[in-house]
Amino acid sequence: TIALDNRLSKPTADFLSRRHKLLINGEWVAAKSGKLFPVYNPATGTLLAQVAEADKADVDEAVKAARKAFDEGPWRKMTGSQRGRLMWKLADLIEQHLEEFAELESIDNGKPVTVARVADVPLTVDMFRYMGGWATKIPGSTLPWSVPNEYLSYTQREPVGVVGQIIPWNFPLLMAAWKLGPALAAGCTIVLKVAEQTPLSALRLGELIQEAGFPNGVVNILAGYGETAGAALAAHDAVDKVAFTGSTEVGKLIVKAAAGNLKKVSLELGGKSPAIVFPDADIDAAIPGTASAIFFNHGQCCCAGSRLYAHKKVFDKVLDGIVNEAKKIKVGEGLDPKTNMGPLVSEEQFQRVTGYMDAGLKEGAKAAVGGHKTGDNNGYFVEPTVFTNTTRDMKIVREEIFGPVVCAEPFGDEDLEKMAKQANDTLYGLAASVWTKDIGKAHKMASLIRSGTVWVNCHNVFDASLPFGGYKQSGWGREMGSEVLNNYTETKAITVKL
Ligand code: ADP
Repeated sequence: TIALDNRLSKPTADFLSRRHKLLINGEWVAAKSGKLFPVYNPATGTLLAQVAEADKADVDEAVKAARKAFDEGPWRKMTGSQRGRLMWKLADLIEQHLEEFAELESIDNGKPVTVARVADVPLTVDMFRYMGGWATKIPGSTLPWSVPNEYLSYTQREPVGVVGQIIPWNFPLLMAAWKLGPALAAGCTIVLKVAEQTPLSALRLGELIQEAGFPNGVVNILAGYGETAGAALAAHDAVDKVAFTGSTEVGKLIVKAAAGNLKKVSLELGGKSPAIVFPDADIDAAIPGTASAIFFNHGQCCCAGSRLYAHKKVFDKVLDGIVNEAKKIKVGEGLDPKTNMGPLVSEEQFQRVTGYMDAGLKEGAKAAVGGHKTGDNNGYFVEPTVFTNTTRDMKIVREEIFGPVVCAEPFGDEDLEKMAKQANDTLYGLAASVWTKDIGKAHKMASLIRSGTVWVNCHNVFDASLPFGGYKQSGWGREMGSEVLNNYTETKAITVKL
């Protein structure tokens, strides 16, 4: 049975009491297998909901609905302005239900409700509004021939078609918005497979999508497991494109699965992002900045600043400062307004992160703070952790931990090329931050670092207008900004003999 937490607002309690089904072709339906899967609160281990479990048969139905909505439905005959208006309406509805979404994110993912309220939900609203604006602004171009007046050529950008989207659990609602927003703006139809750990906010979003009045089959939402529902969606022959956010390991499986019909693929994968503090940095800003680079969202961000390099002249001060910041973090239940850091999302992540902590200690790293699990044994709580005495071949330095664990290392000289080489010494290339008051140094480092994002004197700063994505094994393509529209459009060149 499901025990409702009495701190939850009535709309959230009402949602949790409803049946949680799959959104296919504008209707909420049970899984064809009749199966349900449990969703737990990671702070307490209590059961939150039983959710319909989609697998291949349901993916087939959802793709069929999306195909029909794309090929025949009203969606592609609607103007960009009509599509944009629906997206704005959806954004307004999400905003009206801000508190409910913040609560759902908190109990499902573990994150503090106070954070979801000011980050996850408003960023989601912004994303739909920003992308709604693009719906009327996806132009082609006319192309000058070398010999004029023989041919007229122009390009036109068309929706790529039916899109399969697979998202992770770290920002359940926001990741849905990053995916749905641009695909809707471009005029695609969608089958969204949400993460099995955190399906709740996307299911609530599905209700609002219905309420906003999107035509049936335009957005289909499936909860289910990766190896079944996710794999079936990535492999489906009637899907034109798959967009995936998650681990690099699964990203490679997606590419293989997509090869069957050579569907288009975009990937937003892992990272091991460096934060580099030069001796001339504003240290009072760099300390809280680099601390939040790793501790925000419990380090469960693909762009988390998990490798900290501080110049030896300032290393001790920076380290002391971050250790101090870590000690100030109140770890606890997300619903408690005093909590700064909630539990990790699941037992599996808890094992993974504590496994890395143990490996670090075993390999000879020193925990300047943290290094262990914490709290009672019901929730997946770990300590904010700073490792020193690390070397470049340690697992904790090379691999993505996806938890609140940073490896801090001093560097000796200020040769920027050398520093960039160290920053780039990773399979990944998602993000980096550079901390300095010297603008020349900042810009030079920004161009030497091979990653999709470089922040200067800040970290984890996002806006719907900024393209985000990775070099190297951090992915293919960009999300957000105008760039993301490339993921969801085909360009057609049309030539007329005059
Ligand atoms: P994490 O390790 O952080 O949970 P994953 O990459 O495993 O990240 O999961 C991200 C998303 O990918 C989730 O929605 C998950 O269900 C899905 N997924 C996992 N394995 C597969 C797979 N083999 N094929 C398609 N999707 C998958």
